[in-house]
Amino acid sequence: MRDYKQAVDSCIDCKKCWDVCPVTKVKGEEYTPQGKIQLLSKVESGETLEKAEFDNIYLSTRCGACDDVCPVNIPIKDIIQYERYLLAEQNREPEKTKGIVNNILVHNNPGGKDNSKRFDWITDDLKLSDDSEIGYMAGCWISYAQPEIARSTIRVLNSAGIEPRILKDEKCCGIFLVDNGHFDEMKSHAKNYVDYIESLEIKKLIVSCPGCYKTLNESYPQLYRDLNFEVVPSIELFDLLIKEGKLQTKDLNLSVALKDSCHLKNNIDTPRNILNNMGVEVIEIFDRDVVCCGAPAGLKPNFPETSSNIAGLSLRKSNDVSDLMVAYCPFCIYHMNSVNNYNLQIKDISQLLEDSIQKNK
Ligand code: SF4
Ligand code: SF4
Repeated sequence: MRDYKQAVDSCIDCKKCWDVCPVTKVKGEEYTPQGKIQLLSKVESGETLEKAEFDNIYLSTRCGACDDVCPVNIPIKDIIQYERYLLAEQNREPEKTKGIVNNILVHNNPGGKDNSKRFDWITDDLKLSDDSEIGYMAGCWISYAQPEIARSTIRVLNSAGIEPRILKDEKCCGIFLVDNGHFDEMKSHAKNYVDYIESLEIKKLIVSCPGCYKTLNESYPQLYRDLNFEVVPSIELFDLLIKEGKLQTKDLNLSVALKDSCHLKNNIDTPRNILNNMGVEVIEIFDRDVVCCGAPAGLKPNFPETSSNIAGLSLRKSNDVSDLMVAYCPFCIYHMNSVNNYNLQIKDISQLLEDSIQKNK
């Protein structure tokens, strides 16, 4: 485990992280990224934390906005993860966090849903292949809560002649374990899943969820080993298929508010390319900055009001400029829909792409 003391001590008190943190934006200056990392020595020594201090460590989506602006490169979200690791080791993590960790380990999904229903989203019209080298992982939020995103994705892929293979033993990616510092559990989870996927001789795994992408692509190699297959976010494949002329789209003539995903923030041109290609005008709600939806890393279950208020930042801006918000993260869409008090429709980019392809037929 890294020694973060030197990093914490290198803070120059510039407060740049305060300005970008979605939690600080909605809860005020008692809950800043800087304040979170300054609790490290107290957590390490096992000292009692005030309620506000304890809450501050769990009042983070680990979106990484703070890391991006810190002028001395303090790995703030990793320090938060390490503090959570220590608190879990000291048996001090929140009960709801414990429950979700248990759900993932026992039921293979964060909500404790019946794992035998994971593939209920598959309908007869979808073309899938049991011997394809291209796999598809829908992920938990789509499988159990938003099956229409998986269906649209497969229909789009089918239009380009791709019939992917479903992973019969698909697992939760485990991002919640990573976010909450459950490193040992995550190591064995990653090992089991990677070994299983490789046993199917999958060469390319398409994922609809940016959280799954980030976890498989970054956390698994860190915690287990390099993968012998490529992990591809569905939007990247859509963009490529359009550029190769394998997807024929027709203009939808829409103007939409676009909600970006924290986990794909280095690639925000891709969704814009896809939307522009199908005649959809993108209205920027944060001037191309990526602002977290407020759901991940346990914020939604542990602090529903804060989580909802953070979602409100995007919902309000979107509602001001359009009656349709488009996103490309299923957890983000699920969360936004659950707290959406506006007359604002929220769709995944795959759904618009399916509409655009249908229109062309
Ligand atoms: S990771 Fe995001 S939510 Fe957490 S402290 Fe940094 S900016 Fe705030
Ligand atoms: S941005 Fe970095 S240096 Fe500035 S206050 Fe935050 S943690 Fe400290």
